Amino acid sequence: MAKKTLEDCPPETLANEVVVVRVDYNLPLDQNGEVADDTRLVRTLPTIQYLIEAGAKAVLLSHLGRPGGRPEPGLSLRPVAGKLQGALGSPVGFCPETTGPLAREAVHGMESGDVLLLENTRFCPEETRNDPAWAEEIRYGSKLFVNDAFGTAHRTHASTKGIADAVRAGGGEAVAGFLLEKELRFLCDAMADPEHPFVAVIGGAKISSKIDVIEALLPIVDRLLIGGAMANTFFQARGWAVGDSLVEEDRIDTARSLMDLAGDKLLLPVDVVTAPRIASGATTRVSACDDVREGERIGDIGPHTVKSFTDALGGARTVIWSGPMGVFELAPFQAGTFEVARAAASTADRGATVIVGGGDSAAAAAAAGVADRITHISTGGGASLELLSGKELPGVAALSDR
Ligand code: ADP
Ligand code: MG
Repeated sequence: MAKKTLEDCPPETLANEVVVVRVDYNLPLDQNGEVADDTRLVRTLPTIQYLIEAGAKAVLLSHLGRPGGRPEPGLSLRPVAGKLQGALGSPVGFCPETTGPLAREAVHGMESGDVLLLENTRFCPEETRNDPAWAEEIRYGSKLFVNDAFGTAHRTHASTKGIADAVRAGGGEAVAGFLLEKELRFLCDAMADPEHPFVAVIGGAKISSKIDVIEALLPIVDRLLIGGAMANTFFQARGWAVGDSLVEEDRIDTARSLMDLAGDKLLLPVDVVTAPRIASGATTRVSACDDVREGERIGDIGPHTVKSFTDALGGARTVIWSGPMGVFELAPFQAGTFEVARAAASTADRGATVIVGGGDSAAAAAAAGVADRITHISTGGGASLELLSGKELPGVAALSDR
């Protein structure tokens, strides 16, 4: 990798040093405000453990949700500190400030091997403005900044970019943590030098959110499979009725030109699962793609499509999957996504590199029970899409060069 990583920082150089770590603890919360999934937290443990063992003083920064620059009690990181303590099996301090006298005092009072989580960076308006003075404040005088927040690396914020600039300007180093390094390695290697056959499966709600990725992938993949609601816009481009299904009217031309560009690399659904409404108790019907009726909604890919998609995945050596094939959150529409998830996992079992990007796709892989068989599940939805589109991530660009 072109950027320095925590591996470039020998433990003996870290003892008693304040090290500021940007983590992505923007964890999904349920209706009661409890942490619904702690995957992102668990995956930062190697970085934090390394710092503890080296005897550093690890100051952790993260955002949670979108509080809009002022404190919002429901978005405090306090419960996350408890989660982290449980996962680490050693004490984690929490400070209800990000900057200010309490926070300075808390950092100042740290001892070798301590871990301290500061309050939600987005409680402060300076964070998203990438305010340089505030970035200097959250540096807490440290000579080492570790970015382990892949999910936020596409943001130009004070705790991702500003602080890296500030630490480097102060003669220190800004490096990638172990999680960020792993994310970059998998996603960049797949794009730069993939083993063929290379199959991409793209789905989810909208073409518009994935158009850049599709365009970047097209020249390098052998097959591009498209499912999910975004396939509906392709059906429209072919002149087929889609009933009351989700369609991006303003993307029909995009779909048409993608079809021209992709030629026979592109595999679209041949059948779909429809219902009068997308609900858990819905009565469904399998329909050919050119036979969707008035009043019907497409909720999943059909069984023939599942067969053609799983066949295509079967022989792949590299797979990138981003976006569910249907409304997998509801039982009548989950089969397509789960079958694709199982096929991807079997392909990984045979030694292929299988990468899953996107929060909902990651949740689908977990719901299908195959998450632990996937080669790499990215912790960053937007960031993985930007990286796969060939864009530079500001949080990564700001790190020290090798
Ligand atoms: P990811 O987070 O993996 O990138 P997206 O956010 O792009 O995925 O899309 C996920 C959403 O797309 C899911 O909530 C799923 O219910 C929805 N979806 C997939 N297929 C359909 C469909 N046919 N109709 C409506 N919604 C769909
Ligand atoms: Mg999503």
